[in-house]
Amino acid sequence: MAHEDHDAIYDLLAARGVSRRDFLKYCGSIAALLGLSQSFVPEIARAVNQAARLQPAVWLHGGACTGCTESMAQLGTPDIATVVLDILSLEFADTLSMAQGEDALAAAEAVFEREGEYILIYEGAVMKGFEGNALRVGGMTGLYELEHAAPGAAAIVAVGSCAVDGGFVMANPNPADATGVQAYLEEKGIDTPVINLPTCPMNPDWVVAVIVDVLLLGSLETGAILDKLDRFNRPKYIFSQTIHDNCPRRGHFENGNFVTEFGTEEEAKGYCLYKVGCKGPQTYTNCPIVRWNRKVSWCVESGAPCIGCGSLDWVDVGAPFLNRHRDLPLPNIGNTQPSTIAGVVAGVAAAGLAVHGIGMKATGRTSGGAPYEEMKERDRKRMKKGGGE
Ligand code: SF4
Ligand code: SF4
Repeated sequence: MAHEDHDAIYDLLAARGVSRRDFLKYCGSIAALLGLSQSFVPEIARAVNQAARLQPAVWLHGGACTGCTESMAQLGTPDIATVVLDILSLEFADTLSMAQGEDALAAAEAVFEREGEYILIYEGAVMKGFEGNALRVGGMTGLYELEHAAPGAAAIVAVGSCAVDGGFVMANPNPADATGVQAYLEEKGIDTPVINLPTCPMNPDWVVAVIVDVLLLGSLETGAILDKLDRFNRPKYIFSQTIHDNCPRRGHFENGNFVTEFGTEEEAKGYCLYKVGCKGPQTYTNCPIVRWNRKVSWCVESGAPCIGCGSLDWVDVGAPFLNRHRDLPLPNIGNTQPSTIAGVVAGVAAAGLAVHGIGMKATGRTSGGAPYEEMKERDRKRMKKGGGE
């Protein structure tokens, strides 16, 4: 790496009070998240440095609570991840841009003219209801804005459950006719690659990792990205292990130490939350490792059962959230991966969950605690369709 390449980024970082050591440490955590060895750290640092000059990004909003933006904003300043996103030239964001009105829209339009060069980050559900008259900005409807921005993007990162499959916005009876970005673009024949980052909200470190991997380390250009995504276009390096696999309360689960009611001694002792509805065993994300809010904590560590927001269709399937349920949702969010991969993923996941459930029952550890929720008819149909029953 040329010395002058380093100077540009380290000057910028120094001005924000971030040392070279902190920056390289952060690049190391991104390498770990991507499943790369630490020898890739200089490569990641170089890629981020180049991006300062090359890679504009635009952040658009669909129907959402803006929680993903909030998650990003809670990083604080000067936080290293914020700096990295600054460096990645976030040229326009509906809620974060300093520019307003025509100036802000002109900044976005200037990016859209750079076909194939920019990344589109999309937060929130696509709202097809109300005859398309939702999410108006500068006279444009939300649907027009997405259809206008998506075709020229090098890739789209759908951040948060709502952007991935409609999230809580599409909860039954779904009056907004909400759906996810990938499914909507497939309907419209727009084939820009979509990378899905569910959870509610998404984790900002995932956004940085995906940008580094897909755009800067070139896995989109080389096609390597196809091997890195699961059937739901989620990066496997984030979404291949369950919460339960990495949960610090797992020892209590194995020993049969459960919380059966909140406000009890068992809760104070930090026992396993399975019997009060924890969906950790069937939720595939690396939340216990990556953590939230400057890595301070995450749901189970702060005492709340995982409600499964990293799964798809989690609102309709998972509610009421403090009940237990044993079903694996296999929703349709669009499917750009080969059907053979889809079959294998669905089969393995369902089999794993079934074995888990049988084991729990056989050892008598499912008694007590919150009731099981009855399987909903639409979930039964969905599971059959996905071959997962
Ligand atoms: S059931 Fe939940 S709280 Fe218990 S070990 Fe698994 S993930 Fe952790
Ligand atoms: S731990 Fe569970 S509920 Fe919490 S963010 Fe992760 S997937 Fe969502």
